[in-house]
Amino acid sequence: LPQEFMAALPILETITNAGFEAYFVGGSVRDMLLGKAIHDVDIATSAYPSEIKALFEKTVDTGIEHGTVMILDHGNGYETTTFRTETGYTDFRRPDSVNFVRDLAEDLKRRDFTINALAMRANGEIVDLFNGLVDLDNHIIRAVGNPIERFHEDALRMMRALRFSAQLGFVIEKTTNEAIKAEAHLLTNIAVERINVELSKLMLGKAAAEGLMNFAQSGLFNYVPNIDMGRELDIVAAGLKLQGKTLPDEATAWTYLIDQLGLNEADAGRFLKAWKHSNDFIKQVKTAYHFIQLYRQQVEITNWELYQVGSVLPIALAVLKLNFSSFEGEEYMAALHNLAITNKRQLAIDGQQLIATGIVKPGPKMGEILGKIEHAVVIGQLKNHLSDLLAYAEMLQSKGE
Ligand code: ATP
Ligand code: MG
Repeated sequence: LPQEFMAALPILETITNAGFEAYFVGGSVRDMLLGKAIHDVDIATSAYPSEIKALFEKTVDTGIEHGTVMILDHGNGYETTTFRTETGYTDFRRPDSVNFVRDLAEDLKRRDFTINALAMRANGEIVDLFNGLVDLDNHIIRAVGNPIERFHEDALRMMRALRFSAQLGFVIEKTTNEAIKAEAHLLTNIAVERINVELSKLMLGKAAAEGLMNFAQSGLFNYVPNIDMGRELDIVAAGLKLQGKTLPDEATAWTYLIDQLGLNEADAGRFLKAWKHSNDFIKQVKTAYHFIQLYRQQVEITNWELYQVGSVLPIALAVLKLNFSSFEGEEYMAALHNLAITNKRQLAIDGQQLIATGIVKPGPKMGEILGKIEHAVVIGQLKNHLSDLLAYAEMLQSKGE
């Protein structure tokens, strides 16, 4: 057993010694069997939350109404969830009620895909009620039970199918895939934030190319925030262009997506907002996208433009590289590194000093002068030395600028 499971064995033992059942479940079991790195060892148990809390010294109620308690042990946290069934999905996204049960099979039945419905005993034995091991071997994403019913219970599962397919490079089994196409419209019931998480993971997957094409061809793309309809072909093209390549991080992925959709800068901002990205994230992507636009419009890229794009430059360059096979971009990185400053705080003078010298009085004028100094230093017209900056400030003042 991998070390992550070894570390958690005493927890399983404590639960089983008290007369309950306990298993490792979900992603960690799947990833171990695939020989992949494990994150988050999750535990499923017949013990009720109150019984778990009585057995361990340190627990946190992370989702007690759903039966989840986190057990803290030697600096690790283990999400421990009571076997449960779910009933009544009137809103297509979550059960109206959950019921705690003592039977593992009931719990595995409610899980989304066969490869996610595996459980493992402390001795390494796998419980596989839905032929998840065969699907794992054959690289198949298959819904547990009737896919149409399962997507009606929780429509996010359709996006999860595409996401796992892209992450693992697995194919979605035929009836599962047909159910996604038939029920794609149910995605409108799901909060954008949750769709965003899945799309972001999809785009970072090793098979993101196929994932994006599937996103368009399944019809799911029609039920997510969009600037206007009929852009499936742009998404298919985004997938085609990505074939054999991967996207390095979320900001690059979303910049790539916007660029493929051909949005103007204002629409790009609205699109990211509609997808509920954070303001910080939107700023990064918009900055990178602005640089890409300058490049596409063959505007000369000055030091000032490089200064503006700053640390986000690698994102813009990565997206340009995907678009133009001969694009290297090294010269832009070199030019960025050669800038006299990369940040206003690196100026050899600040507002306080300008006031202390008596050259400028506090007020709006100050910001203006500092801005001009910043610009002159960045474009290389002025050395970033205290004496040069003071002389320049004095000159600006005397000219009444
Ligand atoms: P990851 O590596 O991305 O964390 P994971 O398989 O652990 O993958 P989680 O979202 O952490 O995915 O969920 C843990 C487990 O809970 C899944 O393996 C699956 O068994 C179950 N699960 C999660 N979300 C759903 C869902 N929407 N419907 C049914 N079962 C789900
Ligand atoms: Mg997980």
